Amino acid sequence: MARTDSASEKALGSRRKTFRRADLWLLLLIALSSVLLFVFFLWKDTRIRTPVLEISQDGQVVGVYPLSEDRELLIGSKESGGYNVVRIENGKIRITEADCPDRSCVRSIAIDRRGGSIICLPHRLVLRIADGAGGIPDAVAE
Ligand SMILES: [Zn+2]
Repeated sequence: MARTDSASEKALGSRRKTFRRADLWLLLLIALSSVLLFVFFLWKDTRIRTPVLEISQDGQVVGVYPLSEDRELLIGSKESGGYNVVRIENGKIRITEADCPDRSCVRSIAIDRRGGSIICLPHRLVLRIADGAGGIPDAVAE
């Protein structure tokens, strides 16, 4: 191959080379940050893959339930008073019935896997979406 590079062409070539190297670093940086972002979102996704309904009363967890199964739960007792009926339906949770004076818990909007909470202040009841990645304790769920 007979190349006839002039001095000016060489200078241009080396300048182009440094520019390319800077580009390469930039590309590498972008690639690295996108990999980090991907890993982060993957990790974040696994974190919310198993959302569960956590029911607590008086600051004590009284039940943990998967959102995947529809069910109706009676918290408290209708006979002695102070009850809430919690319904899990199509992954959404709401309180359908309660005998608390303000009934604001019944009027609360449904919560789902995206998070949130429903609180019944008079009954000191808190429903919230928790991370069930550690597994759902069967003894509590039944
Ligand atoms: Zn209430």
